[in-house]
Amino acid sequence: MTSDNRDFDIAVIGGGPAGLTAALYAGRNMDSAVLFESKGPGGQLLNTELIEDYPGFNSILGVELAEAMAGQAARFGTEIVSADVSRVRVLPDGTKVLETGAGEYRAPAVIITAGGNPRKLDIPGESEFAGRGVSYCAVCDGAFFKDVHLAVVGGGDAAVEEAIFLTRHASHVTLIHRRQEFRAQPILMDEARKNPQIEFLLDTVVEAIEGDDKVRRLSLRNQVSGARSTLDVEGVFIFVGFIPNTGLVDRHVDHDKAGYYITDPMTMMTSVPGIFAAGDVRSQLTRQITTAVGDATTATIAASKWVEDWKRDNVETQAAAV
Ligand code: NAP
Repeated sequence: MTSDNRDFDIAVIGGGPAGLTAALYAGRNMDSAVLFESKGPGGQLLNTELIEDYPGFNSILGVELAEAMAGQAARFGTEIVSADVSRVRVLPDGTKVLETGAGEYRAPAVIITAGGNPRKLDIPGESEFAGRGVSYCAVCDGAFFKDVHLAVVGGGDAAVEEAIFLTRHASHVTLIHRRQEFRAQPILMDEARKNPQIEFLLDTVVEAIEGDDKVRRLSLRNQVSGARSTLDVEGVFIFVGFIPNTGLVDRHVDHDKAGYYITDPMTMMTSVPGIFAAGDVRSQLTRQITTAVGDATTATIAASKWVEDWKRDNVETQAAAV
């Protein structure tokens, strides 16, 4: 249930681990805070089957951790609004106006934890077969592929982790990566290499996805020899990175080459005063649940102090103008 209030101290955009942590800390700091999420709290936790690298839990289902984080955030009074934020405008006095599916909201401080979307390969057949054998979420779609041959594309944590997960359903999985070296953590590589259902196809790119009513084969090219080949598969799961949702603010916010926000390491503030970033939208070495909750803790405590200073400066400016 949401109140009629439209003015808050802190507005949080996104309901993944970073956003829910910001909601928790803002509530505990007794700041008036609102969090916007449009797909149900949890963010990418909802696309992750089992989590084994969150301290305190040997293993926990993504959905279970999402529920626990959302329940804990709600206990401390941050208002949660189910709506998309389409734009953030910055007024001359520093107030941020959030244009949302539920109308406009205002806050001096905004914490952007909006995550992002899977990167596409942009090859023939990819959009045509989306939902008919092309997928970006193993947890969501893996069970549709019982005892068949699947391909996974990518060489990062997501590709390797999801290839391992897909062996629960598929008879075997071919992991296709464009070079020899993987970005994935050694522990995941070790597990994948020991899994007899996973085979590796390296130095290889997918040039096209082909089929009839659903995916039937991939056209491949070896990057070293240039040789072309095909691979018969019933489905292809694409994990070639992530595009951060960093286009919301109506003015330039400093970002790195890949579009991730550059933040002050001490406060998580972006180049726009009062706009903070946490989790997958932030430029950093790695993007883990643990780093997302850490970023959000810092960002919220810094945002709380920033709002205090902003309010004092605004009162002084108004007093000087009288
Ligand atoms: P990532 O680490 O950026 O890896 C993307 C992979 O896709 C790279 O291997 C890259 O190849 C490949 N790639 C990119 N564009 C391609 C193209 N056009 N054609 C073929 N291959 C292409 O992305 P991610 O695996 O989605 O992970 C994103 C972040 O989330 C990372 O920071 C990761 O650590 C984190 N994450 C963590 C976990 C976990 O800890 N359990 C799980 C999932 C994700 P190159 O290597 O050649 O560039």
